[in-house]
Order: sequence, then C-alpha cells, then structure tokens
Amino acid sequence: MRIGHGFDAHRLVEGRRFVLGGVPIPFEKGPLGHSDADVIAHALSDAVLGAAALGDLGGRFPDTDAQWKDADSMVLLERCAREIRDAGYLIANVDVTVVLQRPRLAPHIERMRRNVAHRLDLPFDRVSIKAKTSEEMGYTGDGTGIAAYAVALLESEPRR
Ligand code: MG
Repeated sequence: MRIGHGFDAHRLVEGRRFVLGGVPIPFEKGPLGHSDADVIAHALSDAVLGAAALGDLGGRFPDTDAQWKDADSMVLLERCAREIRDAGYLIANVDVTVVLQRPRLAPHIERMRRNVAHRLDLPFDRVSIKAKTSEEMGYTGDGTGIAAYAVALLESEPRR
C-alpha cells in the first residue's frame, strides 16, 4: 500500500465561477486560477499522483499552457486516476478536507462525493469530503481564499 498527500489553495475573487468537486455553487466570489481552480480536484490529483511518486498536477497541465485555460479540473483528476491505474495501482480510498469560511458546503457534499467517486471509478463509500472553517483566522477565515488537503491510499495490483 502507498499513501499520498495533496494540498491546494486559490484566491477568492469576484467575477469567477465557484466550482468545487465539480459542483457549481452559487456565491459572490470564485477561486482565481488558470483552470477552473477547483481545489478538491487539484488537491486530490496531487494526492493520487504523490502516492505513486508520479509527480504532480502542475507538471502535467502547466498553467503556462493555453490548452488548460478554464479547464474542467475534474477531467484532469480523471486523467490522473487513469495514469495511476496504468502504472499498476488501485485507489483504495480518498479523504479531503476543504477549508473556507463561506459559503456553507454541507448541502453540496454528497454531490461532490458522487462526482469524485465517478471520476476515480470508486464506490461512493470510499470517497470522503469534509468542510471546515478556520474560525475566521487567516486567508481561509477572512474570505481571501480557499484551501483543500487530500490524502489517497493506493494498493498495488498483483503483477505477474
Ligand atoms: Mg490549484
């Protein structure tokens, strides 16, 4: 078994769509980024790639490449998961913590989990997503930004 960790953060600004775990969420701000800046997809991509020691998301889909402008990051996550399988690993489970003050994510968590489960080709009960505030401290607490942390456990497929 192999474990991987991922982290992502983006600035929250006006005039950007707020997409998280592939779910569009009504809010007055959205994460600034070259792609759709979905922190769940980005942190999870780095976690699964990291578990296999296969580098990171930024190395595959650089923000200097016009091809990935406004990219759907859940599609990029799916591509990372496919690469993991091609390298001989199965994803056992993933767990994500999103840190932000507002908006409340509780009404959207189940849909995010379903989206992630679909992209990673995992059963729903192997995908955990949680939301926390930082008690109004720091950039996640004052509405300046959003962050996510993710871990992924991989199992080696028997190779013969
Ligand atoms: Mg990012």
